[in-house]
Amino acid sequence: MRQQLWLGVRWWVLGGLVLALAGAVLLARQSLAEQRALFETDARIVHRLLSQQVVQHDAILATLALLQPVPQGTSSASPEQRLPALYPQILAVQRRGPDQAWADPQLARAEAASHTLRHATLGAVDLERGRYQLVLSASPTSYALDLDLRAMVPWAEWPMQPQSSPVRVVLEHADARHVIQPGDNTVGAAGAGWHWEARKALASESQPFDVVSTLTVGAGQLPWLRMLAWMLTVAALLTALHHLQRQRVARQRAEELLRLGQVARLNTLGELAAGMAHELNQPLTAVLANTQAAQRLLDDEPPELGTARGAMAQAAAQARRAAEVVGRLRRAVERPDAGGTLRPVNLNETVRRALYLLEPECQRRDVAPVLQGTETVTVLADAVALDQIVHNLLFNALQALEQVPAAQRSLILTIGTRDGRGELTVADSGPGIPPDVLPRLFEPFFSTRQGGLGLGLSLCETLANGMGGTLGAANRALGGAVFTLLLPLDEDRP
Ligand code: ADP
Repeated sequence: MRQQLWLGVRWWVLGGLVLALAGAVLLARQSLAEQRALFETDARIVHRLLSQQVVQHDAILATLALLQPVPQGTSSASPEQRLPALYPQILAVQRRGPDQAWADPQLARAEAASHTLRHATLGAVDLERGRYQLVLSASPTSYALDLDLRAMVPWAEWPMQPQSSPVRVVLEHADARHVIQPGDNTVGAAGAGWHWEARKALASESQPFDVVSTLTVGAGQLPWLRMLAWMLTVAALLTALHHLQRQRVARQRAEELLRLGQVARLNTLGELAAGMAHELNQPLTAVLANTQAAQRLLDDEPPELGTARGAMAQAAAQARRAAEVVGRLRRAVERPDAGGTLRPVNLNETVRRALYLLEPECQRRDVAPVLQGTETVTVLADAVALDQIVHNLLFNALQALEQVPAAQRSLILTIGTRDGRGELTVADSGPGIPPDVLPRLFEPFFSTRQGGLGLGLSLCETLANGMGGTLGAANRALGGAVFTLLLPLDEDRP
């Protein structure tokens, strides 16, 4: 019984756990998807902003090549001299006149490459320090820009907080890298978590740098609070549902007990009436016989014979009527179903149902019933009458167990077959049945309990006999009583 209860609770707990975990996983996945989408948007913006900057360098060089140097002696500063003031990332502008050579051979090589490729090319690149040169071959004068990557980043339009954002942004070129935004390395260092990377080359042929944005999300960034709230909600919901279910079960049990109680009352009433009829019928028959004798005696005497005869005839008629009334009452309360509506009934299920109904009573008395017998036994019986018998036997056993200390209480029910009949034994470890009580146990109105009607067992026996079965009682060798109910088996079933 308790095992079943615990099993039921376990299913609730298991179901709740699965639901809570599934929801928590969904929440975590949703949060990760949101974080990833945000990261990818930031990475796209970073790529666009940096691309816009480097494309400017191509445009500046192209404009310088187009304008060519201003003739000597002009008062105003040449455009290239003003460029560093306009563009903070341009550290210097160098140029090589028609009959000059580059001081730096690397610039000369870059210019030659630019000449062949017909666009600007990279000169010296020192990504660690954030410096590089960009050279455009032009005629008659070629130009080179000295650029500072650190000044190139448009922080005003930057989509993230450069110091606190967990996203790391790096420019890469030929195994060298320049860190634009450090990001949060502490998460990634542990190795665990989700690692995302967005890599794309800058949109400029002349400056083939890769923008690499990375983000590592650790377990700490999962929405733990929301997940916990969800789990608590599920737990609260399931507890409420479980409570409701228990209430429903308790109500059903109470209704069933009420029904059984009503049946019991009806049956008890029937038993009572049957007993009364039996008791009344004998004296009434005697009255009838006596008055008939008196009538014959009166016949011998001469005076008032007619009156006496008439009175006696009336008395006899009354007595007969009384006997008829009793007979009618008896016929009315005779259970028409005793033996009439026998159907195949699963004995195991009947016993389980009775145990289930009496579960609160067992718990109240600290009794854990044990059900033995592995075979399924189907008997020919009236289901309601069988319910009644099992319920009565169990209740009697529980009452008997009240008389011994809780630690000694045991109740063992065994279902099986014996001599081609279905058998149920109810054995308790109560005080047992005194030898003088044993022969009178099934008598109507015999009870040793204070306030007991003494009709329960007599009713059970009548019901069992009515179904072609028997009910017996005995004392166990180890102490306590055992009641044995035998019923015909349903032959069609195993
Ligand atoms: P009631 O329960 O009203 O007394 P019953 O017919 O059910 O009427 O029981 C008759 C008597 O049988 C009880 O008073 C009790 O003395 C005895 N009896 C029944 N069951 C047991 C049992 N399991 N152990 C000991 N005595 C029992």
